[in-house]
Amino acid sequence: MSNNNKTDEFLWETSAWPDLSERLKIVDTAILPCGAIEQHGPHLPLDLDYFDAVYLARKVAEACKDPKPFVLPPVPYGVSYHHSDFKGTICVTNNSLSALIYDIGMSIAQNGIKKLVILNGHGDNAPTLNYAAQMINRDAKIFVCVETGETSDVDIYKLSSTPNDIHAGEIETSTALAVRPHLVDMSKAEDHTLDFDNEFLDFTSERGVSWFVHTKKLSQSGVMGNPTLASAEKGEKMWRIMIAKMTEFVETIKNTPSDKLYQNRY
Ligand SMILES: [Zn+2]
Repeated sequence: MSNNNKTDEFLWETSAWPDLSERLKIVDTAILPCGAIEQHGPHLPLDLDYFDAVYLARKVAEACKDPKPFVLPPVPYGVSYHHSDFKGTICVTNNSLSALIYDIGMSIAQNGIKKLVILNGHGDNAPTLNYAAQMINRDAKIFVCVETGETSDVDIYKLSSTPNDIHAGEIETSTALAVRPHLVDMSKAEDHTLDFDNEFLDFTSERGVSWFVHTKKLSQSGVMGNPTLASAEKGEKMWRIMIAKMTEFVETIKNTPSDKLYQNRY
């Protein structure tokens, strides 16, 4: 008998092994939420990227049709060295994170998972997670992808009026106001909109390159964007879109046989 209630049957860690073993016969897709514990300005909690990744993964699993994809225990820590001038930030190295993700990926593949969706809540984890994903695909020969907002960014940016709103700004403050308003102190929210005169360095320019900087060089408060324009209403709209697009994506992956995802090569 399963102790899981219907609402969290997709959670890997609260299953007993025989139940999980049965579910693995009908589900081959798992979502791994990855976050960060790092400063998010004077008005937002440190766990924002972690909470958001876990929240989105669970909402997506809830929205998926049966059999629902597994949601794996999340990875809270990320690559956040660029925020280390601010107290509260806990950073792991790229090597530690990629090694951990690789080990998790190889282990769940051994369990029978054939499709792994790494749901990344923190942009600066992306290079490291992509690297780990490549190595898991190389060695376990399962489908692995990393989603860092790509399924809905184009829609989310349209709902925000701030350029370069990349950290603790209009977008992240809105999504926090929508689901955890008690942890947002709007009296401390301050505008720090970044305005680059170089289109190659502009974070939202179509010609922008990937580059790296210690946050304090750009912003004394740690904010990059404009949280004063945030609202719960905007955040609710953003969540609705993120959940819908991510659900559509996960359903597609879940319902596509591995050979159609170009994994059965031999
Ligand atoms: Zn963030």
